[in-house]
Amino acid sequence: MQRFDAIIIGAGQAGPSLAGRMTDARMTVALIERHLVGGTCVNTGCMPTKTMVASAYAAHLARRAADFGVVTGPVSIDFARVRARAQAVIHKARGGVERWLAGMPGCTLIRGHARFESRDVIRVGDEQLTAPRIFINVGGRAVVPPLPGVDSVPHLDNSSLLALDRLPSHLVVVGGSYVGLEFAQMYRRFGAQVTIVERQSRLIAREDEEISDAIRGILAGEGIAVRTSAECIRLAPGAPGVTVTVNCHDGSPDVVGSDVLLAVGRRPNTDDLGLDRIGVATDARGYVQVDDSLATNVPGIWALGECNGHGAFTHTAYNDFEIAAANLLDGERRKLSDRILGYGLFIDPPLGRVGMTERQARERGRPLLVARRPMTRVNRAVEKDETLGLMKIVADAETRQILGAAILGPGGDEAVHGILDAMNARVPYTDLQWAVPIHPTVSELIPTVLRDLKPPA
Ligand SMILES: Cc1cc2nc3c(=O)[nH]c(=O)nc-3n(C[C@H](O)[C@H](O)[C@H](O)COP(=O)(O)OP(=O)(O)OC[C@H]3O[C@@H](n4cnc5c(N)ncnc54)[C@H](O)[C@@H]3O)c2cc1C
Repeated sequence: MQRFDAIIIGAGQAGPSLAGRMTDARMTVALIERHLVGGTCVNTGCMPTKTMVASAYAAHLARRAADFGVVTGPVSIDFARVRARAQAVIHKARGGVERWLAGMPGCTLIRGHARFESRDVIRVGDEQLTAPRIFINVGGRAVVPPLPGVDSVPHLDNSSLLALDRLPSHLVVVGGSYVGLEFAQMYRRFGAQVTIVERQSRLIAREDEEISDAIRGILAGEGIAVRTSAECIRLAPGAPGVTVTVNCHDGSPDVVGSDVLLAVGRRPNTDDLGLDRIGVATDARGYVQVDDSLATNVPGIWALGECNGHGAFTHTAYNDFEIAAANLLDGERRKLSDRILGYGLFIDPPLGRVGMTERQARERGRPLLVARRPMTRVNRAVEKDETLGLMKIVADAETRQILGAAILGPGGDEAVHGILDAMNARVPYTDLQWAVPIHPTVSELIPTVLRDLKPPA
């Protein structure tokens, strides 16, 4: 039996940083990883996709070069080079974390699948480890939905699509949410025909309708077929590839693609961890239940990152590490419930989001103020000839706190941080109205939009 001060299961977005803080505090830590150090974000998530989104943007801009008075030859895609770029970024990032861990005094990286033997004992292969503190940071994986015919055809998820070394001729993306939309646009820009099939009546139905509609318009404008209200999706072998039957209200009932990506959500990697053996509570979908300090119902065991169901993002996993470390090592009392959630959808133009949608704000039943501005009325967007999208802010009419915002437009993922910071500082929106932002930027319109806040119609 090997003894440590702490055991961390999973070297994704919270585990390595937590190991760093704990070993700095002179604790011994076992960090267990069954696959690739860096987890989803580094290997099959954020980093490869955003690298490929950058290639896709370059292709898009090159095709539009004449609009800017730039003369180019015909634009073509060297897909091997696109993939090599993404692989280089992954290898550099993963290697950096591996080297950091290897040089971390007091940290032992153990390779293999971890399972609980008892409340304080973890088994990895033939080895047994024990510690008074155990942190679960096992992340999640793509769901394979129980669609009729799903076992009769080869299907892709984010990992296998990124591993594919050929460009699909026609990619059918089942699932019109964050992961699916990013892949849809980038593969379209690489030259594939792309169809998005979504069960709901609109794309990313969690967002306000006008945001969903604008995103649909952006994607459709690039020649992506969007099939919403696909209530009865079935898969079958097609010639060539896969037939996806789409019981939509309009259009052909069958879409025949060369490849199908299933992007309908994620599930936590908690099904083979031995949690039932030690009584750690999970919800019906397998997410580990945690309190406001990320502690599970079993003393001495915490759950961080995507597996606790409180955020499916790298920054939320990292923030979980910050909360756990601050409480355990710095004597602070930081709470999960203090977090204001922000996130991005990295299509082009990107969507930056923070806090509530207007629909969520309305559900609170308090007086609201709403303002919006199309990108056609943002100078920087006009100058860049990237005027698709809009910005929208929702505030509480009585407290004057900003409740949420969406910025869909050039630099929207960056510009939204002005609002995210103001929300975290808990200042009333009136404090931002007289700021003097830099011209010409997308952010410079934030005070203007705030001055336009009115009760919604
Ligand atoms: C295509 C795609 C694009 C994305 N883009 C973004 C983005 O742009 N921005 C963003 O914020 N988020 C993005 N995400 C989400 C982000 O990648 C995840 O939310 C984040 O990686 C979660 O971090 P984590 O530490 O919880 O888990 P992970 O990063 O998944 O790490 C968990 C680790 O635990 C290991 N593990 C699991 N079970 C065991 C076990 N029993 N024993 C040992 N090891 C185990 C796994 O191998 C893995 O390495 C994206 C996700 C996908 C799929």
